[in-house]
Amino acid sequence: MANPKKKVLENIEGEFFVDSTCINCDTCRQLAPALFEDAGETSFVQAQPQTPEEFRAALQSLIACPTGSIGTLHKNSSSEIMDDFPILIEDDVFYCGFNSPKSFGGNSYFVKHPKGNWLIDSPKYLPQLVRQFEAMGGVKYIFLTHQDDVAEAAKYAAKFGSQRIIHEEDRAAQPDAEILLKGQALYEMAPGFILFPTPGHTKGHCVLLYKDRFLFTGDHLWWRRKRKQLGASQGVAWYSWRKQTESMERLLRFNFEWVLPGHGQRMKLPPPEMRSELAALVNRMKASLETRWGY
Ligand code: SF4
Repeated sequence: MANPKKKVLENIEGEFFVDSTCINCDTCRQLAPALFEDAGETSFVQAQPQTPEEFRAALQSLIACPTGSIGTLHKNSSSEIMDDFPILIEDDVFYCGFNSPKSFGGNSYFVKHPKGNWLIDSPKYLPQLVRQFEAMGGVKYIFLTHQDDVAEAAKYAAKFGSQRIIHEEDRAAQPDAEILLKGQALYEMAPGFILFPTPGHTKGHCVLLYKDRFLFTGDHLWWRRKRKQLGASQGVAWYSWRKQTESMERLLRFNFEWVLPGHGQRMKLPPPEMRSELAALVNRMKASLETRWGY
């Protein structure tokens, strides 16, 4: 629970605040960008919520915060807000919330599908979310984009009898995973679900393309809110920036309209615009390979 005595100085006065335990994961800024801003080392409240929608977004941020760093003096029923999660994004794709500190506050997603539901990366393991997943038909597959965002996948797998999928190069993070992806081949695990390796951030990083519309990108690719463009980071290319650039270029073979990242802003664009954004990013990444300092 956030401590008002540890409020960061940048908070604007009012009912909501961020305290100094914030790990600056960006989750609150994704959920309520008008209310939360980046102070460099932490987030802070830049505007207090005024409308019912803004209060809800602030409370959703409070619940999604991996470290419990958002506090409020607002009299509210946070248990009621908890039932908002997982939050529908579009069609049958949901954002789970309850981001885990074990994945540095990484986002996770849920796909409700008649032939078995999918969890993409893992949220915290909490009864509220387990109940919701149960009500939606359980979890058949847990796709782990890479080794950093496994969080509590093992607990969800034990609860639901799920099959965990991870690339063999990242299997140290989930050694008893039921399905190991190998090499650089594409896998169609179920109709409409295509998995493919995108080495770069880690050696075994993979992404999932669902229905040729939703690309779950882990830490490979995200939307940069302020620059209004697709982005990737050389600073977190733990395995190889050159390999990540090659992986990014391979994505140009596919059409999709949603980028749903582990970290960073999600974004929907018409497929031609998304493709053009992706091509521009690939060009910037290639150019960075020619310089000392990179992109
Ligand atoms: S969600 Fe929590 S930890 Fe993440 S940036 Fe916001 S206040 Fe900080």
